[in-house]
Amino acid sequence: RFISLEGGEGTGKSTQARAVGQALESRGLTVHLTREPGGTPGAETIRELLLTGHDEKWNMRTEALLFAAARAEHCDSLIRPALEKGEWVISDRFLDSSRAYQSVSGELTDADILAIHDVGSRGLLPDRTFVLDIPEEVASRRAHARDRGESDRIGGRDSGYHRQVMEKFRQYAADEPGRVRLIEASGLPEDVTASILEDLSDLLG
Ligand code: C5P
Repeated sequence: RFISLEGGEGTGKSTQARAVGQALESRGLTVHLTREPGGTPGAETIRELLLTGHDEKWNMRTEALLFAAARAEHCDSLIRPALEKGEWVISDRFLDSSRAYQSVSGELTDADILAIHDVGSRGLLPDRTFVLDIPEEVASRRAHARDRGESDRIGGRDSGYHRQVMEKFRQYAADEPGRVRLIEASGLPEDVTASILEDLSDLLG
């Protein structure tokens, strides 16, 4: 089974990925924890290009194609082979991040991003996507409190941008309720993990 975690920065995606992964492993399942962009050597190389000041280097279409290229590698080399063996994959971000972030400028539509995903990754979708939803001020505080490395880009963009991204994630949950679930994530990490696991009970059989 394939699960993705989505949401803005500072929403706790990587913490939840680890916690849910451990819970599934304790049930005897084989779990691959991965992230987008990245997850395989080729895709991690593209990640480095993308997350180091790309704003100045490329136009939005180039950027979206690079995210899609990283995802194509990720799907072919890691996700599909694992799923074929009946293993679980938990990805910290996937297609919905591209839909949300690469469409904000308005230069690319949601249909454009889905089309390049169809070509690059043959349209692979997670079985379930959890959008971690927390109030913007809490997310901003958390993102600033932790390391100021590649992922801390919240300061470089205004809060209107982040609100727009979050609105898009909420819209995907409304449009595709079978796949995309909104999880209230401002409480204790262990309570958020419990909500996710409860939601997964149908997939766990
Ligand atoms: O929170 P995380 O460390 O995953 O942040 C990575 C950043 O990469 C996001 O904030 C976002 O700006 C960007 N990203 C993107 N499109 C994707 C995945 C990540 O724009 N598909």
